[in-house]
Amino acid sequence: MAYKRVLLKLSGEALMGSQGYGIDPAIVSAIATDVAAVVATGTELAIVVGGGNIFRGLKGSAAGMDRATADYVGMLATVMNAITLQDGLERAGIPTRVQTAIAMQEVAEPYIRRKAIRHLEKGRVVIFGAGCGNPFFTTDTTAALRAAEISANVVLKATKVDGVYDRDPEKFSNAVRYETLTFQDVLAGELGVMDSTAIALCKDNSIPIVVFDLFGAGNIARAVAGEAIGTRITP
Ligand code: UDP
Repeated sequence: MAYKRVLLKLSGEALMGSQGYGIDPAIVSAIATDVAAVVATGTELAIVVGGGNIFRGLKGSAAGMDRATADYVGMLATVMNAITLQDGLERAGIPTRVQTAIAMQEVAEPYIRRKAIRHLEKGRVVIFGAGCGNPFFTTDTTAALRAAEISANVVLKATKVDGVYDRDPEKFSNAVRYETLTFQDVLAGELGVMDSTAIALCKDNSIPIVVFDLFGAGNIARAVAGEAIGTRITP
C-alpha cells in the first residue's frame, strides 16, 4: 500500500446515491465493502463525512436563517451520516469509532486527537463527525485539519466526479480532466475542488490530495494503493 495512514473524505451527497435526499443503504454497504478491503491490508483509515445530503448551512442561510445557526444544523447532519456509516462498517465486521467535534457523549466519543490515533493504531476506523465544530467551515477543511492532526499521508476526496476538470463536466461535454495539479494551480485557478481554506491547509502541511470517483467498485482501495486514479494534487 502506498499510504500507511489515510484520511478519506466522503461527501454527504455521495451517500445519497441516486436519491435526492438522505442516505442510500446500498451506497453505505458498497463503501463498507471497499473499506473492509483497505483495512484488511493494514492501512489505517480515518473518515470525515459531510452533511450536504441532509442540510447545508449556506442553503439555510440563503433561505433567511442565521448563518452560524444553519451551520450548526449542518454539523449535526454530518453526525447522522457518521453514525449511519459506522453502523454499515460494523455490519461488515470493521471495528469503527465515531468521534464528534461537538460533544454528544450518549451518541459518540468526543474528538480527542490522541485517542483517535490510538484507535487507528489498533486497526479501527475512526469517523470524525460534526465537522471541526465551528460554523463558517466545511467538512473539506475538517478533512485537511484532521489529516494534519493525525499525520495522515494523504487526503482522499471521494466524490461523484472522477477527478478535477478545467470546467464543469456535467455542463460541458468537452471538459478536460487533469491527472495532476499543484496546490498553487488549484488556488490560482479557482477550480472548485475544495474550498481554499482546505487547500491551503494541505499545502502548508504538504499533504497530497487525490480526488476520485467514489462509485467505481474498489476505487477506495485503488486510491490507497497509489494507483493513478482521478486527479492528484501535490506541492
Ligand atoms: N459545517 C460547519 N463547520 C464544519 C463542517 C461543516 O459549519 O466544520 C456545516 C456547514 O453548514 C456545511 C454542513 O455542515 O454546509 C455540511 O457539511 P459540508 O457542506 O461540508 O458537507 P458535504 O458537502 O461534504 O456533503
